Amino acid sequence: MVRAFGLVLGLACVLVACGGDRGAPTKAVAPKAPPRAASPEVLQAAGIDNTVLAKALFGAKGTGSAQPAAPYGGYAKGCLAGGVELPETGPTWQAMRLSRNRNWGHPDTIAYIKRLSAKAAAQPGWNGLYIGDISQPRGGPMLTGHRSHQIGMDVDIWMKPALNLTLTRPDRENISSISTRRARGAYTNDNWTRAHHEILKAAASDPAVARIFVFPGAKVQMCRDARGNRDWLRKIRPWWGHHYHFHVRLSCPSGAAGCVDQAPMPPGDGCADAERWVQDILNPPPPDPNAPPPRPRREYVMSDLPQQCVSVLSSR
Ligand SMILES: [Zn+2]
Repeated sequence: MVRAFGLVLGLACVLVACGGDRGAPTKAVAPKAPPRAASPEVLQAAGIDNTVLAKALFGAKGTGSAQPAAPYGGYAKGCLAGGVELPETGPTWQAMRLSRNRNWGHPDTIAYIKRLSAKAAAQPGWNGLYIGDISQPRGGPMLTGHRSHQIGMDVDIWMKPALNLTLTRPDRENISSISTRRARGAYTNDNWTRAHHEILKAAASDPAVARIFVFPGAKVQMCRDARGNRDWLRKIRPWWGHHYHFHVRLSCPSGAAGCVDQAPMPPGDGCADAERWVQDILNPPPPDPNAPPPRPRREYVMSDLPQQCVSVLSSR
């Protein structure tokens, strides 16, 4: 039933062409200790109008806050203090869609991107990675696209092999990634290569990573192609979309008290679950007539976010 509901959501998402992982991986979240939300007194003291949507406030900030780096809240409801900018071009990466100014993250995320891109550069046909959205300079909700990516611990990585690392700014606005799926995500297509497998394996094998979202057909393909140790497969999670890019979610940094991890994944490699996703794509279950209509999501205002996000917003 849950999956059928998700299928409807996923379909709706396709129909309105929303970005990547909207509505994504937050259903299973069980916050260990929800952070204290910003109170009216705190908001008033900071001069923040709580009728303004948080996405407008965070979307207006062009630089990181002058604070020690810290994610506050959860992946889909939080903000980022002390965000660091991923350099637009490095030896083994380029940040794409620079006009969005979403190449900011927690320093751990930036370090992760650098080391993963160096591994990707060792794959045939790849000189590194094209990096999609990380977070806004101070994280928080966004004016367009993602629901997650709010605390600087999520990053989208393009499926298109990064061969040319001298792309200009206009190139990076205009070039598109490539889709690696066919049959609505039940299978990979000819753009999917062993290099994708190796890069996703390296991405998931890094201990900083909590989980990775990719379309179901890719997970099933990796389950078939994996040899030897299969532990890394557990972190590869089937999800809607995610065929032009895969989405890496890092765990909360150690000692980050205000950061809320997602609930742990079930044991095992998750391959049977991915097969079920594929079967549901190929033979969609009939809609549940008793399912409640999806409730529209309310947009966050500052009093929905952790109290620390007030100082993240107010900091110089
Ligand atoms: Zn994403």
